[in-house]
Amino acid sequence: MQGTILIIDGVATNRIMLKVQLSAAYYRVVQTDSVANALSVAQRCCPDLVLTAMTLPDGGAADVAAALAADPSLAQVPIIAVSGQNDNASRIEALSAGIDDVLHQPLGDVILQARIRSLIRSRSSRDDLSLQHEAAQTFEQPLSERECLAEIRNSKVALVAHDAPTAAQWAARLQSLVPYHLHSHQIGDIQQLMTDPVPDVIVVELTKTATGPGLRLLADLRARAATRNSVVIAIPSPADANVAAEALDRGAHDVLQSGFNVQELALRLSTQLQHKARNDRLRATVRNGLRAAVEDPMTGLYNRRYARPFLDRVARNAVDCDEHFALMLIDLDHFKQVNDRYGHPAGDAVLVEASNRLLKQLRPVDLLARVGGEEFMIVMPGLGAAQASEIAERLCRQINATPFQVAGIDEPIHVTTSIGLAIGGGDPCAGPSRKSRPTSVTDLIADADRALYGAKDAGRNQVTLSSVAA
Ligand code: GH3
Ligand code: MG
Ligand code: MG
Repeated sequence: MQGTILIIDGVATNRIMLKVQLSAAYYRVVQTDSVANALSVAQRCCPDLVLTAMTLPDGGAADVAAALAADPSLAQVPIIAVSGQNDNASRIEALSAGIDDVLHQPLGDVILQARIRSLIRSRSSRDDLSLQHEAAQTFEQPLSERECLAEIRNSKVALVAHDAPTAAQWAARLQSLVPYHLHSHQIGDIQQLMTDPVPDVIVVELTKTATGPGLRLLADLRARAATRNSVVIAIPSPADANVAAEALDRGAHDVLQSGFNVQELALRLSTQLQHKARNDRLRATVRNGLRAAVEDPMTGLYNRRYARPFLDRVARNAVDCDEHFALMLIDLDHFKQVNDRYGHPAGDAVLVEASNRLLKQLRPVDLLARVGGEEFMIVMPGLGAAQASEIAERLCRQINATPFQVAGIDEPIHVTTSIGLAIGGGDPCAGPSRKSRPTSVTDLIADADRALYGAKDAGRNQVTLSSVAA
């Protein structure tokens, strides 16, 4: 099943014809006949899309939209209204009432199916984002209506027509109705279209002379990473249902089926930009949430959750490439005394400065992670014992050679560190020393840990190389 569609129509024959049409396309179809029944039926069948007659025995499509909008579980369900005739005024009224699109009788199968596919596709990508948002355990609230409107005010909208004067004329007519930054382009002019910042919305003319290049441009916009999240609105010739359907199937979010109408375009821009603002916000919070899950907020370093899979990857790679790699566990010495003597905030400042000093000594391919309170892990791909020991000694000196200056503390704070070093990877068929080298990452960590405690036992402020790594 492709999804569930709720048909609302007071005329039984209309419902039957639509049901036949949609069942043939493998949709599950549920029907009802009035505004009064719409909400309860929708709550029971949880439709992916609602297809309602513009005029119903006890009201109209706008009443259906209002009823669904009042139920949070149904508020995002896309609605198509089917109107008896192609009438601009009633279409604009319906779009203002939150209806996603208006199709008119006779209802062509190609455009109906394409519209349904595109609306269900947009809805499911929104749902996917919401799920990821929940999974990333971000606590940020989605954008409210007011925040959304404020956020879209500065949107960049590109108007692309077959020639420059048409695009400029569209921009001039639209400008008095919308607050967005409008840019007009000729259709061959893709280079200029892509200059930063990439447009939030790209409106593409698909009338006769522009159909071929326009459709190619749509496919191109979907394929490019930079414009993948831009909204695309297509304007085919009036009543050219085939081109409209093809535009939707090529990824256009919306189509002005009756050609350029400035009011209709303004409404569709506002609706699409609000969807986009919400999706962009969801995407950003998912990204931030994922990053926050692997980052230590105080030092900005990666945490243990990131470090372990990184280490596993480096270990696998080392075996594949017949290379060594170094693992260091670093623990600041007598750090409790630093806190006791200078206070916890001063201890924090020392931890941040210590991480910076360590980080400065590493290459971009290395990892420094904070894996405990005053404990760090370093992973250095491609290094054997000799080089890694030299670097570990240098790291020790970076901490002990220059006392830490902390704001608000008059005296410099002397800090030292102990480092346990273990070497992993290498040729599994190499000589006898290899036999005693740990093979699993868990063993290697245990080894580095033993080396670290060896360094502590031997008086701290020093590096110990794991005995099995030699
Ligand atoms: P050792 O040389 O044996 O490692 O001695 P130590 O005092 O460093 O070790 P111990 O494990 O006894 O104490 C670690 C201290 O690190 C205690 C704890 O208060 C401090 N610490 C851990 N995390 C933080 C932090 O985020 N900020 C501050 N200021 N201190 C921290
Ligand atoms: Mg410790
Ligand atoms: Mg310590």
